[in-house]
Amino acid sequence: MKGRRLLSAEIVAVGTEILLGSLVDTNTAWLSRRLAALGVAVYRHTTVGDNKERLVAALSEAATRADLVIATGGLGPTADDITHEALGLATGREMVEYPQARRHIDQTFERFTGRRPPPSAYKQAFFPDGCELVANPLGTAMGALLELEGTLFATLPGVPSEMRRMFEETLESLIGKRSEGVIVSRLFRFAGISEEEMSEKVRDLLDSSDPTLAPLVGPGEVGRGEVQLRITTRAPTRTEAEDKIGPVAEEILSRLRSYSL
Ligand code: ATP
Repeated sequence: MKGRRLLSAEIVAVGTEILLGSLVDTNTAWLSRRLAALGVAVYRHTTVGDNKERLVAALSEAATRADLVIATGGLGPTADDITHEALGLATGREMVEYPQARRHIDQTFERFTGRRPPPSAYKQAFFPDGCELVANPLGTAMGALLELEGTLFATLPGVPSEMRRMFEETLESLIGKRSEGVIVSRLFRFAGISEEEMSEKVRDLLDSSDPTLAPLVGPGEVGRGEVQLRITTRAPTRTEAEDKIGPVAEEILSRLRSYSL
């Protein structure tokens, strides 16, 4: 799929379970890490429940800001799985049945259960007109790619194993070809100094917009006394990114080396 460069992305996670707190949205975190590694800046995460109106609004709004909008979840066969319908409404495309998806549903069902699928399964054969389908080797729900007015929409199932496999098999190379460079981060860990004291020592560097510097509290309960600094930059190649990070890293260590872990 050709089109303009993919520099910025937003992720829309779909599922009422996530909003209720009964499901932790690991898909968004995983996708964000993969996109960063491909050099695509993720600017916003949105979570919406299984509500058509709110999902249409979330997809439409994300498209006004981002080159790439990835939705995860809500591709199943039940009435509350509405992601493709919402994508159709957000893009003004009618829902049409894709024979290729129908065949995939038949074959997958047969392979996993040895039976014919129930009629309700064929809901997953409907996509907005003009989509390219994303193969799902692990389940019946295929994903969709739809490029419209400068935004590439991609849909992936909520089931993490399916979502990951589809991203790795189809989206990753496609996005990699259209992104620009890589995002590289380096993490420094310190102890024996508070986050405020650490920030104070690098106050001038914190204002830099490239590389960016982020103070963090260490992992675990109240950081377990550990504080961290993350330097991040984006560049056409890893070497160029490392070259940008190098001098800032040295400067940080010259000020904080005695606290370094
Ligand atoms: P399927 O087509 O297989 O039914 P789906 O696209 O409809 O998948 P959902 O019904 O939204 O996906 O979610 C199915 C299951 O996948 C959830 O019950 C949950 O276990 C997992 N899941 C969904 N979304 C996420 C998420 N964002 N992060 C982690 N796990 C998720």
